[in-house]
Amino acid sequence: MSSRIVAKDHKIDCFKTADTKWKRPFYFVQGADLQMGMIQSYLEKNPVPGWKKEIELGERAVAIVNQMRPRPKFFVICGDLCDAFPDGQQEIRQKQEADFKKIFEKLDPEIPFICLSGNHDVGNRPTAKTINLYKSSFGDDYFSFLCDGVQFLALNSQYFEDASEVPDLAQEHEKWLNEELECAKQAGSRVIVFQHIPWFLNDPDEESNYFTIKPNIRKVWLEKFRNSGVVHVFAGHLHRNAGGSYKGMPVTVTTAMGAQLGDDMPGLRIVRVLENKVEQNFYSLNNLPTTIDL
Ligand SMILES: [Zn+2]
Repeated sequence: MSSRIVAKDHKIDCFKTADTKWKRPFYFVQGADLQMGMIQSYLEKNPVPGWKKEIELGERAVAIVNQMRPRPKFFVICGDLCDAFPDGQQEIRQKQEADFKKIFEKLDPEIPFICLSGNHDVGNRPTAKTINLYKSSFGDDYFSFLCDGVQFLALNSQYFEDASEVPDLAQEHEKWLNEELECAKQAGSRVIVFQHIPWFLNDPDEESNYFTIKPNIRKVWLEKFRNSGVVHVFAGHLHRNAGGSYKGMPVTVTTAMGAQLGDDMPGLRIVRVLENKVEQNFYSLNNLPTTIDL
């Protein structure tokens, strides 16, 4: 049985209780950018496509998460599931997706597995076609869920990056996000946001670059987030660990489960949701603990 969760109507409903109030400490596991195929195509410049190394890394990660006790509430991957783009490399992409899903079929079915879309999953300039391809394979490209009294929002950050081909879809995403934030504000819920491209790497005032959202869009949403109960944002895309905070609201960037572009090692982040704080630590696969103290 697969534990992969597929969002419908921008919701996932895998958590038994609909408690709107936090009751007890829990934790989840966050990863990003397994990006099946990048090591061989980008790092090794091998013209022959292949993703054996990512399969090994993904299987190692799953084996370790399966041993974790207590079990994590869920395992989320913040985008760039596979490397091949949906437009132009569709045949390779399909093979990568099939192998990606095979890896995570081995995840303990009691651990919900949640995927987000990254730029490699919907294209740098998404179209209605690439978004539909993603949805037919992985479910909705943005959604929310409530877990143990905390509201989680999973965004499609590509709409902030380049929505020139999909202005209507970007507008729906924006409307949805505004409504979710308003609801959370009314309910007084704590909110944790997942997205692929981070708002910034270290400093909310830093200049725009390939790895972040443009400052004019960034500032608008960071301010809305801060005013709506968002307590932490987790992202990927950078293939290095990074992070900073906006007026006390942390944005944490997690390095890849696959190809590295810096000095970090492939690994995962363990995030503890405690009564008054969110604690997070990154571990390489060599150092990931299997007994988690809460
Ligand atoms: Zn990316």
